[in-house]
Amino acid sequence: KPRKPTKTHIFLPHLVASMEVEETYIMVKPDGVQRGLVGEIISRFEKKGFKLTGLKLFQCPKELAEEHYKDLKSRPFFPKLINYITSGPVVCMAWEGVGVVASARKLIGSTDPLQAEPGTIRGDLAVQTGRNVVHGSDSPENGKREIGLWFKEGELCQWIPAQAPWLRE
Ligand code: ADP
Repeated sequence: KPRKPTKTHIFLPHLVASMEVEETYIMVKPDGVQRGLVGEIISRFEKKGFKLTGLKLFQCPKELAEEHYKDLKSRPFFPKLINYITSGPVVCMAWEGVGVVASARKLIGSTDPLQAEPGTIRGDLAVQTGRNVVHGSDSPENGKREIGLWFKEGELCQWIPAQAPWLRE
């Protein structure tokens, strides 16, 4: 006699609950693109369990680089920084998740790659502050500001990853 199939019930609070979801702007800088590190860097955030909501390869105009880094305008390295960021295509990303801003900063590591812990992106993949391969927003407010700067309306996607119920209880 064939067995009756058992019904599995999976509770999906993720579809309804309003958790404190943050968003952050992550960017593979031109050196990361030139060195073939795009897949590696995206992979770190994917594996952690954050949700990608925006992604594009983009040649950044000078004005946008200056606006993005406007808080550093008075620093002596500012002109070099603008040259660096506009020196080739970057990969722009928007990532979403609970605690994603601080967690992404940890995954990225210290600004100076020689000080960055092994296991972090900069700690594993870079050797100099002026070529530190990746950017990550430093606060939820800046996350929103930077995603607004780098992405147009219609370039971001909202979706529910299939893994959602397996990531959070
Ligand atoms: P982070 O990117 O870790 O948030 P900051 O906001 O302090 O660091 O600086 C922004 C970027 O400016 C750095 O990631 C790096 O590319 C560049 N930068 C910062 N300090 C220096 C420096 N002393 N010399 C050259 N470039 C620098």
